[in-house]
Amino acid sequence: MRRARKLDLPRPFDVHELCNRVGADRGRPIVLTPLPMTLLGPCGLWLAGERADIVCYEQRTSALHQEHIILHELGHILHEHEGAETMKDLLPDLSGNTVRIMLARQHETFGNRAEREAEDFAFAVLARASRSTGFHSTLED
Ligand SMILES: [Zn+2]
Repeated sequence: MRRARKLDLPRPFDVHELCNRVGADRGRPIVLTPLPMTLLGPCGLWLAGERADIVCYEQRTSALHQEHIILHELGHILHEHEGAETMKDLLPDLSGNTVRIMLARQHETFGNRAEREAEDFAFAVLARASRSTGFHSTLED
């Protein structure tokens, strides 16, 4: 969980701000895009553009769930997992069925180890984020 520990987390925690910072660090902006996606499978998608990473996430769910989805995708990005969809496969139809097909494909492509890494990353960041808002923030650093 080195990657989760190394991150400079915004305080109070804000996943959008975190993505801004990571994007600035990497020199590749991370663009967050809420979309109506399937509720059946994974609810997030990472698209690797030429100069930016696009993270799509389910718009019809709670803010907490969205935060987790975004962190999971950020985990894939920071671990540089192979298998991000590329923009040329997707445009000009960034909606509906296309996204559903991409979703089904993407997280399969990553494989179990990568999925577990992304999940562990999301939980580790959330654990740090919740600690950092409480009494014990000074212990954390
Ligand atoms: Zn995943």
